[in-house]
Amino acid sequence: MNLTITVSKEDYLKAIAEAEAEGETVISATLAHWLSVTRPAVTTAIKRLAKDGLVRAGKDGQIQLTPSGRGIAERTIFRHHLIERMLTEIFDMAWYEVHDEAERLEHAVSPAFEKKLVDKLGHKEVCPHGNGLVMRSDSERRKHGLCLLSEAEMGKKYRVTSVYERDRKLLEFFHQEGIRPGTSLAVESQNYDGTVTLNIGNKGVRLGLPAAQKIWVVRP
Ligand SMILES: [Zn+2]
Ligand SMILES: [Zn+2]
Repeated sequence: MNLTITVSKEDYLKAIAEAEAEGETVISATLAHWLSVTRPAVTTAIKRLAKDGLVRAGKDGQIQLTPSGRGIAERTIFRHHLIERMLTEIFDMAWYEVHDEAERLEHAVSPAFEKKLVDKLGHKEVCPHGNGLVMRSDSERRKHGLCLLSEAEMGKKYRVTSVYERDRKLLEFFHQEGIRPGTSLAVESQNYDGTVTLNIGNKGVRLGLPAAQKIWVVRP
């Protein structure tokens, strides 16, 4: 990412909400990494956000959203998902392409346009990658019977519920292998080298651990 691009207040709040949902302890370093900005830039931004009452920074350096900060983060995530749906459902853009577009466009959505999008697209809990505002954290997903593909049992059938969407190359790889939300697959074997062998529509697919850990599945 180009470091001169201004990272907006919304990007910070959204990154904190998303890192929290992935079970990460959010400190300056987490955000510097997630947003590809320098640590001093994060420090300055967090001070400003704290002054605006949007985040709280603890003595241990942990950064948390206040209720109003969470409100803005969730609104931005909601708009992000609407844009992704608009691009796939109205403009037929490929599901693996729309995340990057939505990252830019989400900031330009006015409340009036948001309402238009909701009217046009109708209600849906999830984006084209299977992610939504409900069931965001790992623990919530597990409570609903989901597991990571890397933990799935040999010889059993599963359905893909969601995939990690912030890695374009990974999404393109999933697409090539026929993996996307809704895909049915059977786990042939969990191998000693950390790979998992799958059967997807009578085609054998072998995935490495880093990829298998980015896919949530459920027993049908
Ligand atoms: Zn996205
Ligand atoms: Zn998405």
